Amino acid sequence: STCPRTFVVGGNWKMNGTKSQIDEILGFLRKGPINDFTEVIVGVPAPYLEYVAKSVPQTVEVAAQNCYKALNGAYTGEISPPMLKDIGVKWVILGHSERRAIFGESDLLVAEKVAFALQNGLKVIACIGETLQEREAGKTEEVVFRQIQAIACKIKDWKHVVIAYEPVWAIGTGKTASPQQAQDVHKALRLYIATQIDGNVAKQVRIQYGGSVTAANAKELASQPDIDGFLVGGASLKPEFIQIINAKQ
Ligand code: PGA
Repeated sequence: STCPRTFVVGGNWKMNGTKSQIDEILGFLRKGPINDFTEVIVGVPAPYLEYVAKSVPQTVEVAAQNCYKALNGAYTGEISPPMLKDIGVKWVILGHSERRAIFGESDLLVAEKVAFALQNGLKVIACIGETLQEREAGKTEEVVFRQIQAIACKIKDWKHVVIAYEPVWAIGTGKTASPQQAQDVHKALRLYIATQIDGNVAKQVRIQYGGSVTAANAKELASQPDIDGFLVGGASLKPEFIQIINAKQ
C-alpha cells in the first residue's frame, strides 16, 4: 500500500538577508496563513540560524545551507552537524548546484556529507540537477541518476531525506522547467530509485522541484503526480512564498 507523501516546501535564502530583512520574512511567515498539510523549511545563512530557529513559527523548520562531514576539528570555516543540532537546527541543504559549481563539491563529497548529516541526526534536502549543456546533450537522466546513485552508495535509510531536483539552467534565471519537463525527470528518478535502489524508498521519498518557482507557476507544477514540493530561492525572500507554500490543492 502507498501512503500519500506530505508536500514539503523549502526556502533557500542563499547568501541574502540582513537582520531587518529577516524580520520581514519572519513577519510574513507568522502571518501566513500556511496550509497545515504542508511542511515548511527555511534555509538560512549560518550567522542567522540561531536567531531564526528561535523566532520562526513552530510549524516552520530551519535548515542550514551546508555542513561538513566531521564532528569537530581543524576545518576552518566549516560547520558540523552537532553544532547545528546544538542551536536547534534540524535540517541541512546539501549538494546545491552553487556548492557543486562554485565550491567544487563532487558527487562523492556531497554523498559523504549527506551520510554524515543523517548519522548525526539531521534531516537533509539533497540537491541534484543537470546543467543546460548536459540537457542539450541529452544527458539529463544520466546526470541525475549518477548524482542520486552516489548518495545511494553511502546511505541506507532515506526516511530523513528529501531530494530536490533543480535543473541548473532554471536556477535564478526566470526559466522555470515546464510542469511536463519537471514531471518527466521526477518520474524517471522515482523509477530509477524503484529499480536500482529500493521500491519502498521510491514510493515514500519526496522529490522537490527547484528553479525559478514563483506564485504564478507553483500551482501547475504542484499538480504533477511526482512533484512533492519545492525548493525556492528568490521568491522565498518575498511574501509570495506563502502562496507557493499553499500551491498544493
Ligand atoms: P531560484 O533558486 O528559485 O531563485 O531559481 C532555487 C534554488 O537555487 O534553490
